[in-house]
Amino acid sequence: MSKYLFVAGLETHVELQTESKIFCGCSTRFGAEPNTHCCPVCTGEPGSLPVINKKVLAYAIRAGLATHGKISEITSMDRKNYVYPDLPKAYQISQFENPVSVGGYIELDSGKRIRLNHIHMEEDAGKLVHEGGYTYIDYNRGGVPLIEIVSEPDISSVEEAREYVEKLQLIMRHIGVSDCKMQEGSMRCDVNISVHREGEPFGTRTEIKNMNSLSFMEKALAYEYSRQCDLLESGEKVVQETRRYNEGAQTTESMRSKEDAQDYRYFPEPDIPAIHISEEFVDSIRKTMPVLPDELRKIFVEKGLSDIEAKRLVEYKRVADFFLSSLSAGDAKIAANLILGEIFRSMGTEEEKEAFELKFDVEAFTELVALRAQNKINAAIQKRVLQEMLSKGGKPSDYLTADDLAGVDDSAVEGLCRDAIAANERAVRDYLGGKEQALKALLGFVMKATRGKANSGAVELKLKELLGK
Ligand code: ADP
Ligand code: ZN
Ligand code: MG
Repeated sequence: MSKYLFVAGLETHVELQTESKIFCGCSTRFGAEPNTHCCPVCTGEPGSLPVINKKVLAYAIRAGLATHGKISEITSMDRKNYVYPDLPKAYQISQFENPVSVGGYIELDSGKRIRLNHIHMEEDAGKLVHEGGYTYIDYNRGGVPLIEIVSEPDISSVEEAREYVEKLQLIMRHIGVSDCKMQEGSMRCDVNISVHREGEPFGTRTEIKNMNSLSFMEKALAYEYSRQCDLLESGEKVVQETRRYNEGAQTTESMRSKEDAQDYRYFPEPDIPAIHISEEFVDSIRKTMPVLPDELRKIFVEKGLSDIEAKRLVEYKRVADFFLSSLSAGDAKIAANLILGEIFRSMGTEEEKEAFELKFDVEAFTELVALRAQNKINAAIQKRVLQEMLSKGGKPSDYLTADDLAGVDDSAVEGLCRDAIAANERAVRDYLGGKEQALKALLGFVMKATRGKANSGAVELKLKELLGK
């Protein structure tokens, strides 16, 4: 154990999935020809007037409610002034005094809460494209709506930082405000980190900007933690500064120190009046909130799933919804096994699981689960039918024959069990001598004779009964 405590606070930018930008009607669609989704408002031409997109406000409130924040009655926009080519009007419209949501928290699996300071709305800037020795500017991203979620410095380890970001990501996806794809930039984190001795005040922090991958964030935090510990150990001081992560060298390096820190000269945005958020508006949003991922996990575990299964089902919103609606079939375990097994195997990529497009509907799936739960078909037939449904769609009855559904009646099972015992003297002796495993040979005999159609649980009971166990 190191003698220095780890302290981090994160500022997380989340790009909102609205059709149009935050202050104008331009499209937010990603990947269009450069500078085709622009207008005088989002490029800040003199005389243009921004008007706030109500959906952005609604999404920000959603994020606040999902993280237990207090939604402000009055929220207002501020100008954050800085000069950089990606920002043609030389200020970003953001929030400073009255953010949409104040406080709240993200709860980790340990039960520890990472408190949030606030959530605010702002516009994204354009993008610089470096090509062939020139730098071009694409303003399509300028004015795309963002929320920034600012945590308190409550994060005490690299692992907690990762879990915090993953939880945030999952919540934002489940409430439908963002796809939070770090590799595509729709979620980006600035991480602040400091170290100090137990019982002493917090140390001086550094900030590592724009982390766009969880593994880079972990490496950057681990590196920065040991760099700061080493500095203190050798009697030096940590300088408050902004650093960047160098992916190649796996180190952090200085970008600018506190002395050149920008003074943004925030002031109230004169072109956008303060917004009064009515209780009715908040209530109308509250009514459309889904069950949140951690709550879903609990429900799934109560239905009999292991925590790992529940966690995997909740990882993708559409999968969780599909599973939830299949629960009427009455057997959560069978449904979960099919989704996490056969169905996930048919989907190679994360994107496919995220999209979760199936050729059959949830009713057909529920029917298949029920057939199995009621022991009308065995596992092998279920698997075959699911494969057919995965490739061709339809419902179980499209692929089931009378023979599949016939099962094996009890008297036949008893006869076959007697045959099995007669034909496997050695296994019978081993079993009676205490080798539980030996029963498998007898079971195998019966299953083979019925081409897998007998109910293996019933066969096992029958065998034990006949063997006097
Ligand atoms: P600023 O006003 O400079 O932006 P804030 O107080 O808003 O600073 O904090 C920005 C982020 O830095 C927050 O996420 C906060 O949790 C984090 N932070 C603040 N102090 C520390 C510290 N000593 N160590 C680590 N993180 C910190
Ligand atoms: Zn525009
Ligand atoms: Mg701040």
